[in-house]
Amino acid sequence: MRENIIKAAKRVIIKVGTSLLVKDNKLQTYFITHLAQQIVQLRAQGKECVVVTSGAVGLGAELNQKRKTLNRTEQQALAAIGQSRLMQAYDHIFAQNDLMTAQMLVTRDDIQNRHNYVSIANTLKQLINWNITPIINENNAISIEATAIGDNDTLAALIASQAQADLLVLLTSVDGLIDYKNNQVIEVVTNIDKEASELVRQEKTSLGTGGMATKLQAARIVNESGIAMLIANGKQPHVMTDLLQGINIGTLFCPRKKSLYGKKSWIAFGADCKGEIHIDRGAQAAVCQRGKSLLASGVTQVVQNFSRGDTVALFCEGQMIARGIVHYSSSELEQVRGCQVSQIDERFSGELPAEVIHRDNLALL
Ligand code: GLU
Repeated sequence: MRENIIKAAKRVIIKVGTSLLVKDNKLQTYFITHLAQQIVQLRAQGKECVVVTSGAVGLGAELNQKRKTLNRTEQQALAAIGQSRLMQAYDHIFAQNDLMTAQMLVTRDDIQNRHNYVSIANTLKQLINWNITPIINENNAISIEATAIGDNDTLAALIASQAQADLLVLLTSVDGLIDYKNNQVIEVVTNIDKEASELVRQEKTSLGTGGMATKLQAARIVNESGIAMLIANGKQPHVMTDLLQGINIGTLFCPRKKSLYGKKSWIAFGADCKGEIHIDRGAQAAVCQRGKSLLASGVTQVVQNFSRGDTVALFCEGQMIARGIVHYSSSELEQVRGCQVSQIDERFSGELPAEVIHRDNLALL
């Protein structure tokens, strides 16, 4: 199964972590050379490759020799310097391998704004059609800390989902998700919450390292979007070409059969969540099992202020079950929660829509 999923992948997003690219604030150009050589081979096999690269912040830090604490603007300025060096290296080294590159820089606002999010996908597809390798990073010259996506695992997952990729490969400096009890790399994960979350907790307490939590979050995003994900050690020579030949390396996270595509995937993972709607079990069954829209009659509680058109999370008995774009503001919904459609029509002379969230705008989780 593992081999089939990986070999069949056509559109592949490759995310490269800072630890592979930057050492002592210096760019490890040999890594980019190896990556370019592997992409040449993958393209010869008909694969389409997109790179999501870290390293801008790490490279820019070279200018901060005195290691003083920087304010946000200084950090952003250093990221701008680092990004330009990083891209120069990709451009130059890929050109030596007859590959043309294009830079795309993305911010959190671009992911949350549906129009920009769709634009990202369109540009990506155009570049791929022209046989150009897109090189993507977060635009850290603009966004650092609170306003940022923050980690490129999540960015790569959102890009994979929007570009309708088949496979996301997170190249890192560890061999995969490790089961420390048996000291073994887990080869396949089919249910992240059951099988993997526990291991991340173990990893953090026993070794004191982070990083795997954002990778699992990335797996959740892509697997729900019908895309497979691999975590593999980028230090291993030929890792990408070996992987795509079906050689057993790293950990594979399998895609879910019932997946969220396009707009629903954006509602589930891209859009900024502005509030919560709590519903009763009857409404949950209607929405989750019978594919119905959410009506006000099943709403029990409205949390936080939101406006019409915002994305909100749906909860039933304390558990998040879906996200959706709401047709009511929080104050309108507060006035009609628990009411039947006929009562709402009477009170508001038909000015409020029948559905609180239309089923086309509901992403079940
Ligand atoms: N965007 C950051 C950079 O280029 C990397 C974020 C991450 O390490 O995940 O330095």
